[in-house]
Amino acid sequence: NQLLVEMDGFGVNEGIIVMAATNRVDILDPAILRPGRFDRKVMVGRPDIKGREEILKVHAKGKPLSEEINLQQIAQTTAGFTGADLENLLNEAAILAAKDNRVFLKQDDIKKAFVKVGIGAEKKSRVISEKEKRITAFHEAGHAILFHVLPDVGPVYSVSIIPTGSAGGYTMPLPEKDEMFNTKGKMLQNIMVDLGGRIAEEIIFKDVTTGASQDIKQASKLARAMVTQYGMSDRVGMIQYGSDEDEVFIGRDLAHTKSYGNEIADVIDEEVKRIVDECYTKAKNIILEHEDVLHSCAALLIEKEKIGQEEFEALFKNHEPVMHNDGEM
Ligand code: ZN
Repeated sequence: NQLLVEMDGFGVNEGIIVMAATNRVDILDPAILRPGRFDRKVMVGRPDIKGREEILKVHAKGKPLSEEINLQQIAQTTAGFTGADLENLLNEAAILAAKDNRVFLKQDDIKKAFVKVGIGAEKKSRVISEKEKRITAFHEAGHAILFHVLPDVGPVYSVSIIPTGSAGGYTMPLPEKDEMFNTKGKMLQNIMVDLGGRIAEEIIFKDVTTGASQDIKQASKLARAMVTQYGMSDRVGMIQYGSDEDEVFIGRDLAHTKSYGNEIADVIDEEVKRIVDECYTKAKNIILEHEDVLHSCAALLIEKEKIGQEEFEALFKNHEPVMHNDGEM
């Protein structure tokens, strides 16, 4: 998609709405993103199961389908496909039918087209295996439960296991209120939420994936900031160590940025580890107490791929707390 808009020549009150689409926001001319130009941005992600079925219906128009073709089933097996991939899939199937001198598309054409398009799409948008889908579902359910249970974060706005970019899925809380300060309690809860995905994987699969690296990075960064910037560790005290990451010192020698000795560095590392470890234990206990919700949420995600706030919160209605004695702090 390309931005093909001439931005000059409009007055403020001419009642003209300019819409444009791009899949490369990163390379847009910054001038186009200045205030007063494109003020609203709408992210259009990849379609969920229902979306894919509707898109298939659109592209199936004008293509006679045999009765055995089940668009819903095709939608189920094409997780990760974009609208363009789905269009391509039906076009390829139509070519296969034409080669066979048939006027009607058969399910078999679609299966063959799927292999062809699927391999091409695997490079671009990756076809998600059932196993990956299951892992992502439990991973996101882990994040979502903590968002819901912990008082200063959340509530959950939507949970999705539709792959976007390099992420397998996402859990999105409602947008935060504008608050001037972040509290220590809230920061700890954010670290717990970050760890929730990995913890859920551990509980269910007794094994872990590399999928949580971004979460772990975020949790470590936050814990380190608590210790070195916000004076939230009693052992380290109210001293800032290291420099603000926001400040950029061009050409500054790395050796000079460390204004403290190895002993302090060790204490900082220990404190960061202690914070993350404590958050891990607390988060794991909460998820274990909600193991029934973990399962019902993952099942719903596997079925629908994306769920909203109401559907998610309904899962807690029949929740029966499970008491575990292990991992007590
Ligand atoms: Zn995660």
